[in-house]
Amino acid sequence: MRIIKSVAAMQRLARGWQRAGTRVGFVPTMGYLHAGHMSLVQRARRLTGRGGKVAVSIYVNPTQFGPQEDLSRYPRDFARDVRLCREAGVDVIFAPDNAQMYPGAGADKFSTFVSEGELSRSMEGQSRPTHFRGVTTVVAKLFNIVQPDVAVFGSKDYQQAAIVKRMARDLNFPLKIVVAPTVREADGLAMSSRNKYLTGDLRAQALVLWRSLQQARVAVREAARPIPAARLKAELKRLIECAPAARLDYAEFFDPVTLVPVSGVTRGTHLALAVFIGKTRLIDNTQL
Ligand code: AMP
Repeated sequence: MRIIKSVAAMQRLARGWQRAGTRVGFVPTMGYLHAGHMSLVQRARRLTGRGGKVAVSIYVNPTQFGPQEDLSRYPRDFARDVRLCREAGVDVIFAPDNAQMYPGAGADKFSTFVSEGELSRSMEGQSRPTHFRGVTTVVAKLFNIVQPDVAVFGSKDYQQAAIVKRMARDLNFPLKIVVAPTVREADGLAMSSRNKYLTGDLRAQALVLWRSLQQARVAVREAARPIPAARLKAELKRLIECAPAARLDYAEFFDPVTLVPVSGVTRGTHLALAVFIGKTRLIDNTQL
């Protein structure tokens, strides 16, 4: 397994793969890897087949964090990430630093961004106004650097995956985007690097996200008619805020393809939640 830190070296390798007709699968991450990330790696491996290459990027991208967010304390353990990638048969880790990704200072500083204008306005985009511009910009850059045939994203970040798909289509990136299911802990909590922040009884309180998704699913399956979204939202808020450290940021019911909010919730409607557990903001989602 190679570890590459420079953009030029990664692009050279990618060009070599392209010339040789090698199929390349790519998994972008911010590191502090867990079984959710590794499931994307396995998927990339299956999609590229024998003779294909799998690249994982590890980069905590500053432009997708807001000024009050957890950029400086975002968990990192590069040695452990390297070990996990090696064990999973990853071919290349691309781990650039900020100077590689956002070159220049002063008058020649980085000044070109990619932003998606439709799907990124709601939910995460509303709560974190500059977040998706940072995501689409860094993902576009990573696609140009790694030049993959297929890139795998997790449905844990459902809105992000939809936006990346739209960007790839709109800007003609010559690759396929695959979205893989959310991997959960045994008790239902969606795996996340940020779960590291859940110390003491916060870990148990974080289960309200999973319980809310379950409760909404049961309600929808038992209902003979569409349930008013406003009513379900109010019920979920009550359930969530029974946990003393929990505060609902948003609960949204929407069409899984267009991401447009629905007023009547039925089977097939998608539910996404963002909940603060103490200072830690967690997200989760499911199709009902
Ligand atoms: P992150 O390192 O959090 O930016 O995530 C990198 C990729 O891993 C994204 O495509 C995420 O959606 C995906 N991912 C994160 N958590 C999970 C999970 N629990 N199950 C599946 N994919 C995940």
